[in-house]
Parts: sequence; C-alpha cells; structure tokens
Amino acid sequence: MHFEQTFPRRQTRQIMVGDVPVGGDAPITVQSMTITKTADHEATLQQIYSLAAAGADIVRCTCNRQEAAEGLARIVPRSPVPIVADIHNNHRMALAALEAGVHCLRLNPGNITDPTKIKLVAQEAKDRNVPIRIGVNGGSLDSSLYDPDVGVTPEAMVESAMRELSYFDEVDFDLVKISVKASSVPLMIEAYRQMSEATDYPLHLGVTEAGPPPAGTIKATAGIATLLAEGIGDTIRYSLTADPVEEAKAGRQLLEALGLRERKNVDLIACPSCGRAEIDVYKVANDAMEAFEDRKIPLQVAVMGCVVNGPGEAKDADLGIAAGNKRGHLFVKGENVAVVPEDEMVDQLLDWALYLHEEGVEATMDRAKSTRAAARKAAEEDRARNLDERGEDANASEAAVELIRNRTTS
Ligand code: SF4
Repeated sequence: MHFEQTFPRRQTRQIMVGDVPVGGDAPITVQSMTITKTADHEATLQQIYSLAAAGADIVRCTCNRQEAAEGLARIVPRSPVPIVADIHNNHRMALAALEAGVHCLRLNPGNITDPTKIKLVAQEAKDRNVPIRIGVNGGSLDSSLYDPDVGVTPEAMVESAMRELSYFDEVDFDLVKISVKASSVPLMIEAYRQMSEATDYPLHLGVTEAGPPPAGTIKATAGIATLLAEGIGDTIRYSLTADPVEEAKAGRQLLEALGLRERKNVDLIACPSCGRAEIDVYKVANDAMEAFEDRKIPLQVAVMGCVVNGPGEAKDADLGIAAGNKRGHLFVKGENVAVVPEDEMVDQLLDWALYLHEEGVEATMDRAKSTRAAARKAAEEDRARNLDERGEDANASEAAVELIRNRTTS
C-alpha cells in the first residue's frame, strides 16, 4: 500500500507573474534571487538560466539604481522565467523597472512609506497589469510600527502589510501577493498564520537571512515546511548565504519531499523567444516536451531560439539545441557538437539525449569528434549572420533604456 499525504491548501486568489500563476489552485512555485549586478545583464542572464535549470519558476533581481533598471530592460526579453524587480528606497526605481517590462515588483513597506509615492507606483502597475509583492521584513519594519519595548511582533508585521494594502485599495489595485518574512522562525510562522487569517491574497514564504547551509537550509525549511503543512503558502524562497542555485534546488526539493510538486523526468528549459529567434520556440519546445514525455531521461535539455545567445545562456544544461539559419545547432554543456536540419531538430535532440544519458559526456564528445569543428564553424557563421541582419539591439531594449533615463532623471 502506498501512503500519500496531501495538505489541503488555504484558498487564495490567483495572480499572474508573467505567465506563471501564483495562488489559487496553481502549483506552489519556487523563487530565487540573482546575486550578480543587474547592470551586468549578460552575467545576470547567465545566472537566471542556471536558476531556471535548478528549478526556479520566478527570479528576482535587484533594481537599486538606474543602471540596474537599464539592465532589466535588456534582461526581461531574454529571460526564460518571469522577473521580479526588487525595489529598495526609491520609488522612481519601481517606475523605471515597470518601463523595463518586469513581470512583478517587490516593495518593502518599511522602506517606501510616503503614501503618495506608493499609490503612484500601484497606479502605474495597475495600468500595466503588473502585480506587486508587499514584502514586509521583520528586520526593516516601518519605524512607526516598531515598539522598542516589545521588539518586532507578528501583529506589527501584519499591520504593515495591511497598511500598504489600504493604499493600494485607494487606487483600486489588487494584483498583490504578500510576504511577512523574519529571520526568527517562530516569528515568521506566527506572522504568516495571522496574515492568512486577515486576507486571501497569495502568500510568498521565506525566512530572511537564514545563513549558510546546512544550518540556513534547516532554518528555512523549519519555517517554510511548517506553514506549507498547514496549507499556507503559494510561492517560496530560500534565502541562503550560498550560490543562489542552492536556493532554487532546496526549494524544489522541499516541494517534492512534501508531495506538492511532481518529480520530473527530463527538465526541459526553453528561452522565451525574442527579436533574435529564428524558429517558433514554443512549437519546438512543445514538440520536444511531447517527444521526451514518457522517457526516463533525467537530463536538463534546452531549446533556444537563436545561436547568438542560446548556447551561452543554456551552458549549464546537459544538452541543448539553438536555431540558426534553417538548421539547429546541437550543443552539449555549451560546446557545439553537430548541426542538423531544422525539421529534424526534435528527433536529433532526443537521439543525442538518449546517447548522452546512456553513454555519458565523454562518449558523447567522442561521438561528435568528427563533427565538432564544422559545428562550431557553422554556429559562428549563423551567429554573425543573425547579428548582421538583426543588429545589436534586436529587442529594442535601448528604446526602453532611453525611457528609463527620462524617468530617473526628470
Ligand atoms: S531567441 Fe536567442 S536571445 Fe532571444 S531569448 Fe532565445 S536564446 Fe535568448
């Protein structure tokens, strides 16, 4: 007999973070945060792809200055997962992040306290249909709610979120999710319990500054798992002092351990497609998903729309294919191994995946011995042609950057 425990989930509303539903009956999602400088968009994208491959459904990037907002304008069109902009003290950065096209904002009510500014951001988010996470943090609670005699209380944290909600109400904005994180596990557990009684907005769970693993992982798990087992929580993030890939993995593993997310066979990642794409990425990714579906191939496989950025962005994947000029460039761990006709891309991907899974990386590289040099050359040709035809700014990111500059300097 097979025992299967399920945890009845508290009913919440559902919002969309990009194309990822959060709340309601949507699967509980895993989030993580980049630690690169957002202004360095290539390094940040590289990390976002690594996080997506490790199981992150949504990734947050800091947006603390104009250069970071400009980075977001270049990151968002090429990110494989929705991007949340983390806003600190400056509401103009929230407006700039919206201009960059982010899928969600995170505001800390303890940092931006002026109702006029909060409402301005909420109004603009509403106009663009972009949700906001109200991110209360026990360590940076609004000073007007902090009582030095008793310290931070769950009630004060909930009050902070409710106050922010009332400003949002004034502009009729309700695309909201809420977090009431603290570094103390008992405090955050109680704050989330109270929050879940007070509203039906989706909740983002986390223990802040949990520290390095393994102690940090245990601490975060204690808080997050307790709440999930009570049916509280719609999206989670481990805040570890470690490579963020560890955060994404831990989040994924916790959900799988609790039976809240299915274990996967192949881990298929696909780029979102953008102005550089040379194929219909959605179609190829769906066809690949179908082809891999019933096979037990526990590899990370990437489907990428162009050879300009595809192999680099997905270099952590075990295997991938990037579209070129009516052909597909197969790569293993970021190294070009073969070129295949466009209409054989999915079949070849499956064939190489089977080989890689059964024989290993070394044997696969050996198999590609006679094709690697030509594959690299063909990829270079298609890369140059794409850049030549579509220019350096295929996603018109620079136009968004111009708007951000106007926003932050006017
Ligand atoms: S088409 Fe190329 S640049 Fe665009 S998202 Fe896909 S891999 Fe990245």
